[in-house]
Amino acid sequence: MLLDVANIKKVYKTKGNETTALQNIDFAVNEGEYVAIMGESGSGKSTLLNIIATFDKATEGKVTLAGQDLATIKGKKIAQFRREKLGFVFQDFNVLDTFSNKDNILLPLVLSNVPIGEMEKRLEKIAQPLGITNLLDKFPYEISGGQRQRVAIARAIITQPNLLLADEPTGALDSRSSEQILNIFKQIHQSGNTILMVTHSIPAAASAGRVLFIKDGVVYHELYRGEATDQEMRERIAESLTMLTNRGV
Ligand code: ADP
Repeated sequence: MLLDVANIKKVYKTKGNETTALQNIDFAVNEGEYVAIMGESGSGKSTLLNIIATFDKATEGKVTLAGQDLATIKGKKIAQFRREKLGFVFQDFNVLDTFSNKDNILLPLVLSNVPIGEMEKRLEKIAQPLGITNLLDKFPYEISGGQRQRVAIARAIITQPNLLLADEPTGALDSRSSEQILNIFKQIHQSGNTILMVTHSIPAAASAGRVLFIKDGVVYHELYRGEATDQEMRERIAESLTMLTNRGV
């Protein structure tokens, strides 16, 4: 098991107010899995992702990633752990306009002191399947949103992270670019990456092998792909959403 989220609770305390953002969250992700977490705005998705990403701490419960209890990693070690074990893909790409696409992708390796020859080798291996070979010398402001997201994915996987975390990665894209990005996620999953994606998009969740549904801070349903096609998966997700909404869960 790569990621174990055991009985997580998160309570935000602000002046006189308490919000329970997550409760009894309990699930595991095995190495090589592609898992989507679905839920409407305010359901607790970002809170959960932030805790797994070591940006925030759970109020109760325990998160173990690659054999390490996240609560025991302290100070400077947190940034190092994040850099070595995790890759991030965000809705708004988070690429730097002052750097070329190539330098954006290599930046995490520069921070980890990887030798230049090794950097070039890794870049060569991922650039072609991501379809970004001819974009490398351009700057992020010279390319489309979909292309920027492919650069961001390259930056996330070039460090060979244990877990790739994606937060609404198709949220800012048109349907055609979204489809291309989802195909890329499937492709990098097939090549061995473990992916955890947070989304409220049915097509995005339907590209995963398993979908967890979260509402009001609780995981209330789970769907496995099995042998289903993307189209069948979309229908089953839509059915689950309708059923669970009607039931007023
Ligand atoms: P989602 O990502 O699914 O939209 P969030 O995790 O952002 O949901 O939010 C879950 C709940 O926690 C919401 O009720 C939200 O208002 C609350 N919340 C999120 N972040 C904070 C915070 N920093 N302080 C207080 N409440 C917060």
